[in-house]
Parts: sequence; structure tokens; C-alpha cells
Amino acid sequence: MDHESTASSRAQIRLFLCLKDNYGVLVHDPASGATAAIDAPEAAPVEAALTASGWKLSDILITHHHGDHTAGIGELKQRHRARVVAPRQEAAKIPDVDEKVAEGDTVTVGSLSARVIATPGHTLGQINYYFPAAKLLFAGDTLFSIGCGRVIEGTPEMMWQSLLKLRDLPDGTAMFCGHEYTDANIRFALTIEPDNPALAARAAEVKRQIAAGTPTIPTLMGEEKRANVFLRADDPAVATAVGLAGQPAAQVFAEVRARKNRF
Ligand SMILES: [Zn+2]
Repeated sequence: MDHESTASSRAQIRLFLCLKDNYGVLVHDPASGATAAIDAPEAAPVEAALTASGWKLSDILITHHHGDHTAGIGELKQRHRARVVAPRQEAAKIPDVDEKVAEGDTVTVGSLSARVIATPGHTLGQINYYFPAAKLLFAGDTLFSIGCGRVIEGTPEMMWQSLLKLRDLPDGTAMFCGHEYTDANIRFALTIEPDNPALAARAAEVKRQIAAGTPTIPTLMGEEKRANVFLRADDPAVATAVGLAGQPAAQVFAEVRARKNRF
């Protein structure tokens, strides 16, 4: 193994709640000392995580323009002189952007390296950060554990295509998302797939996690592919469950998403 991949495999993570149910994450590269915040819902919990870890903030990687992902940018940037990386397509709506990125671009955090994946749907310019060597995905409000983001700016077809891009990532990828919504997502998913054994297993695991007061993320992409109904709209059983047997996957996805909105 070369030096770079060794360093990348040693990325360290701190996960913490912000606001009501947003997640803040710090990604630390011990090789260089670089530390990135993934999104900035509010400054204080990020500062607390930095203090607790002794890490120094070097970068802020933003997934999309919503205020519950960006409100802490100004304060954090001013205090730490951190570089702010954000989606090119939404840069005008995000404060203090230093580097605008889009699909296929590479973002480095010290010796760690992320590929930018464009995942429009929740917002039109949403991006996710995928660290292949460290096996990490920061999915913003595109993919949640056993759920996905509301389709606010894009179309269901667009969101489905974005989810397919994430579904292509290796099973061993640890997925971090923007919100702790897993319990409600599972209650909904069970209305569509009451007999999916992977979903039942995940439901049992989450029950234990909630009882223990621990976060339900990260999850592995392999588990999400088997248990997350929003990644399974092209499974004939899901189409049948929502009365759309034989219909295109994007249409099935749209129906599942619409049902979740009403749930
Ligand atoms: Zn959002």
C-alpha cells in the first residue's frame, strides 16, 4: 500500500447533532492535520467537536444551499480561516465560498481525496462528497438511511437518477447523511416492504441504537441497497406493492416519495 492510500484509509470521523436533527461531521486526516466540516448547520456544535478532538478546522465542504446546512459558515470561516467548498450551481446562494465544484471534480482534505458527485433533486445543485480510498460518502440531503430527501427543486426522475449514482458506490462505503430521520423512515418503509428481511434487520438494529442513545448513522451502502425502499424502485416487488407493476422505476420512485410525503 502506498503512503497516500494508507493515509486515506486512516481518516478519522466525529459525528454530532446540530439544530434539531441535523448531523455535523468532522473528517480528520492525521497525516496532515487537515480537518473538514461537512456542512455547517451551526457553529457552536462544530466548535465543541473541534475542542473535544483537538483538531484544527481547515476546510468546510458544503452539500447544498439550505440554511440548515450553511448557517454556521460565516462564523467558522472567520474564526478558523477555513476554505469553503460548495456546489458551483448554488454558489450564489451560499456565503463565503472559496472554491466552486461540480460533478467529477476532486476535493482534497490534506492527503484525503474526495470525488464530487452531482445529485440534483432535493436541490438542483446538490453535490455529495465521496472519498473512495477512505470509503466514505457524505450524502447531504440526497440519501438518508432508509430514506431520501424531499424532491423540492428537481423532479422525481432527476432524484431517482441521482440515487442510482449513489447505488453504484461499493457496498463497503460508509454513508453519512444530513439528518437523523432513520426511525421515521423505517416506519414508512415497512408500509411498502413489510416482508423485506434486510429492512426488518435494520429496524431491529435501529431500535437498539435509539435505546442506547447512539446515532443510527453511518450505514454501509450495501445495507442501504438491500433495505432502503428509495434505492429499490426498480425492484418488481416494490412496484407491485405500490400498484405500479411493470411501470418505469422513476414512476415507482415518484409514487413511493409521494406516499412518504403524506405519511
Ligand atoms: Zn436540504
